[in-house]
Amino acid sequence: MPELPEVETIKEDLRELVVGSRVGGAELPYPTLVEQPSPEEFVRRLEGARVVGTRRRAKHLVVDLDSGDALVLQLKIGGQFLLVPPVEEPTTALMLVLRLDGGRGLFLRDETGFTRARLLDADGLEERFADLGPEPLGGEFHDGYLREELGGRRARIKGLLLDQKVVAGVGNIYVDEALFDARIHPTRKANALTEGEWTRLQSAVKENLAAGIEHRGTTFSLYRDVLGRKGHHQDHLKVFVQAGKPCPGGCGGRVVKEKVGGRATFLCPACQPENGPEEEGRLELE
Ligand SMILES: [Zn+2]
Repeated sequence: MPELPEVETIKEDLRELVVGSRVGGAELPYPTLVEQPSPEEFVRRLEGARVVGTRRRAKHLVVDLDSGDALVLQLKIGGQFLLVPPVEEPTTALMLVLRLDGGRGLFLRDETGFTRARLLDADGLEERFADLGPEPLGGEFHDGYLREELGGRRARIKGLLLDQKVVAGVGNIYVDEALFDARIHPTRKANALTEGEWTRLQSAVKENLAAGIEHRGTTFSLYRDVLGRKGHHQDHLKVFVQAGKPCPGGCGGRVVKEKVGGRATFLCPACQPENGPEEEGRLELE
């Protein structure tokens, strides 16, 4: 499922490979893709436009066009945005095809069918993103931000970190990895975290996302970059989908899988005690 690092990878690929290209024609084999405007208007406004830039906001991919429109894609669970060639032309699960000059094409496909698209002007884009929290790799996510924002909340820390209004772009994979690095159990109440835990968590969120970008994303099954390649970060995961494996923290225990707030959650119960470090005689982690 594309989270910040995966969408960032696609955004950078598109910036390198597609910016400057003109959309000669647009085909929409899966009209349900389009949330706004109407499918007919969506196609009409794409055709003839030149790609002038790409951006990412949270898990949204934004393709800026010289018309002033922005194509906004939410790849959700299984969206793939592939450049043909070099990728061989896909024939299944197609949602949108943008025919580019030079005989190339951008093929949007999704076996799960959940990917959604919008074509928005500048005001529409601002409105769409108005409720999103800060980018975790940007200046607004300053030291102390998480403690200031969440320190008084009684909700579970994992659910709060997944809330896009708190911090943008973080999803299930990188939250579990960050909580493990910070040695915080996912069901801990935010208002019970210590100063040291907030500091570790803030760093861990940034470090895990940066590592995900460096490894060009995490591929379990469907995620691909623009050239159809898998990411590598799945080879570096510490707890996520590692249930049963020895804890990489060296505690001698094993990673377990639990359900937290309806989401599959991976953790080490020894390194991330449910009742916090106080109950365990305060772990020395620094
Ligand atoms: Zn452990």
